[in-house]
Amino acid sequence: MDFNQTEEQSLIRSMIREFAQTEVAPKAAELDENERFPVETMQRLAELDLTGMTLPREYGGAGLDYISYAIVIEELSRACASTALILAVHTLAGIPLYQFGTEEQRKKWLPKLVNYELLGAFALTEPGAGTDAGSLQATAVLDQSEYVLNGTKTFITNGAEAGLFIVMALTEQGVGTKGISAFLVEKGTPGLSVGKHERKMGMRGSSTTELVLKNCRIPRENLLGKEGQGFKIAMAALDSGRISIAAQSVGIAQACIDESVNYAKERIQFKRPLAANQAIQWMLAEMETDVNAARLLTYEAAHLKETGAPVSNHSAMAKLFASVIAERCASKAVQIHGGYGYVKDFAVERLYRDARVLQIYEGTSEVQKMVIAGHLLR
Ligand SMILES: Cc1cc2nc3c(=O)[nH]c(=O)nc-3n(C[C@H](O)[C@H](O)[C@H](O)COP(=O)(O)OP(=O)(O)OC[C@H]3O[C@@H](n4cnc5c(N)ncnc54)[C@H](O)[C@@H]3O)c2cc1C
Repeated sequence: MDFNQTEEQSLIRSMIREFAQTEVAPKAAELDENERFPVETMQRLAELDLTGMTLPREYGGAGLDYISYAIVIEELSRACASTALILAVHTLAGIPLYQFGTEEQRKKWLPKLVNYELLGAFALTEPGAGTDAGSLQATAVLDQSEYVLNGTKTFITNGAEAGLFIVMALTEQGVGTKGISAFLVEKGTPGLSVGKHERKMGMRGSSTTELVLKNCRIPRENLLGKEGQGFKIAMAALDSGRISIAAQSVGIAQACIDESVNYAKERIQFKRPLAANQAIQWMLAEMETDVNAARLLTYEAAHLKETGAPVSNHSAMAKLFASVIAERCASKAVQIHGGYGYVKDFAVERLYRDARVLQIYEGTSEVQKMVIAGHLLR
């Protein structure tokens, strides 16, 4: 692995950092406070060709490599984690569509995801099937030329705004995960509705909703891949998605360092800046070391994904480590800010809340350990 960034990756980093710090960061506190979806920022991301970053140019995408993708998500998360999450899940929806879709499906939907005519969402989790996603209960029954979908999905990111959902449902009972299939379901399809909106601790600029399927009829052609391939499709998507969660973690942790360094230099106690105390310096040094280690793991997983090598073990390690250090850095950042770290006037209060979910979604830390141990013990 080459530790130097390519010229293109460096250019992308400076472009996205400039955009994120000038246009995204100033809105982060307001989005969080009002639980507001960043309509205008998503439009700008589409104009910057970032809503189809990883998709090939033949479908209108930017054809960026995965390290560039990680860089974009990292820099956006450093400015506003909610915005980065929305973009990451949108991207996550396009990946299986490209990987497993027919040419007809790709041509129909990928350009719409790329130009942000449709926002993407990924609907796997159900009230009774979280970590044990393979035990999902939603059903899809073939009725002549249509599948009829029934069931409830929960915790769906972008649920309120998405125009295209990748939905996992059972086409065959009693055969475990081999009975799960994946479907493309468009907003506005009769029988599809958005249920409860979750009120969250963090990532409050992104919507998280229930998705209710009640005799929801979709054309047979909306089956993604083959019947019975749905679990494999979902897990393959999550292998890539976990790289973006690791990148979110790195971005949030980096923001904690940025805020803490500035504050430690400015805040005077005992007639000198906080930064003059070794106790504070040690916290900063530990944060910096953690972030660099997490960034390397994240880029390594992204590099492997780019080469086409198996990535599940490395994306699990990157997500496991980076999500833990994000919370650790956020906790230290609050500590360095003292009482001011606990109030909403300072960004670290939000960063601490945003960091917590990184160890939960797209597979909890316990699931990542199962994946990693599974590789060790196979
Ligand atoms: C903000 C947010 C956004 C989300 N977005 C999406 C989305 O877009 N699409 C989607 O499909 N889902 C989404 N999710 C769902 C998320 O992936 C699940 O919450 C997660 O997989 C955990 O499932 P659960 O909440 O049901 O927890 P549970 O499965 O009930 O687990 C509870 C605890 O038990 C542990 N546990 C469970 N089984 C075991 C075991 N065998 N061994 C050891 N420990 C175990 C878990 O690790 C966890 O700590 C989102 C969740 C949140 C909070």
